[in-house]
Amino acid sequence: LPEQEAFDIEYWLLEEAKLQRMPKPKSLAGRVAIVTGGAGGIGSATAERLLGEGACVVLADIDAEALDKTMSNFAGRYSKDVVRTVSMNVTDENAVDEAYADMAVEFGGVDIVVSNAGIASSAPVEDTTLELWNRNMSILSTGYFLVSRAAFRMLKAQDLGGSIVFIASKNGLAASPGASAYCTAKASEIHLARCLALEGAPHGIRVNVVNPDAVLRGSKIWSGEWLDQRASTYKTDKDGLEEMYRQRSLLKRSVLPEDIAEATYFFACEASSKSTGNIINVDAGNVQAFTR
Ligand code: NAD
Repeated sequence: LPEQEAFDIEYWLLEEAKLQRMPKPKSLAGRVAIVTGGAGGIGSATAERLLGEGACVVLADIDAEALDKTMSNFAGRYSKDVVRTVSMNVTDENAVDEAYADMAVEFGGVDIVVSNAGIASSAPVEDTTLELWNRNMSILSTGYFLVSRAAFRMLKAQDLGGSIVFIASKNGLAASPGASAYCTAKASEIHLARCLALEGAPHGIRVNVVNPDAVLRGSKIWSGEWLDQRASTYKTDKDGLEEMYRQRSLLKRSVLPEDIAEATYFFACEASSKSTGNIINVDAGNVQAFTR
């Protein structure tokens, strides 16, 4: 009997070793995703994460030149059969609807929607022009609505469920000085996600939110007027700002585009199949630090 037992154990260990060596199935194989703002820092990192898990990805962005650059970064690693681009303004309802129609033709539909295209621009409230206020509302709040509306129409028609992930912001929960337009638009994205989670649940459509804190590396937002505004509000430069955000987080770590991509992947994949209407703050503990 002990001999038989030893043989059984050896056999079992060999089988285990074989299993370990077998390539793991990709968790998003056969899934189709659209990532708006896919040519930006967080969007391209997210596209890369989803592609790595076997999804086909459409990068949708208003910036055609940046889309080409992102595609050239993927060249040699991912073929045009699995990653494509569409030049699209999220505030243009026809353009958004057409992008989904094209996805239906090219990839057969959509399973994962990452609504991420955005800007950051604000000023103290007394200096906030109506144009500035409307720009934030239109690209962030209305853009997320249009991208979700088209997604809902397609996902409901497919009747296969789906996952929508909003990249909102820590600023949608916690106020930031001199940024009322941006903060209010981001708060509305978070509430839109909750409303859509309610509407989507009977159809297996999950809607969740990832809230980044400041992600300075790789982000185009942090090279334009937002950088100047934040630098003037906090009286420091880009490096000083990154250090300030790091220091004020509980974990004393900077948040990177890949950190946002990881949380987004979680909401996109089956591991989060029991989550909807939820938020992950990827902030190294900053929201808690801010509200204590
Ligand atoms: P980014 O500027 O690198 O990327 C944003 C992308 O959105 C750009 O490629 C831009 O061309 C695109 N875009 C802008 N307006 C568009 C429009 N009307 N239609 C289609 N595409 C448009 O910035 P990022 O840091 O990657 O930001 C991505 C998202 O994350 C945004 O919604 C932003 O508000 C949010 N966010 C960023 C930070 C941060 O610190 N970087 C923090 C919190 C939240």
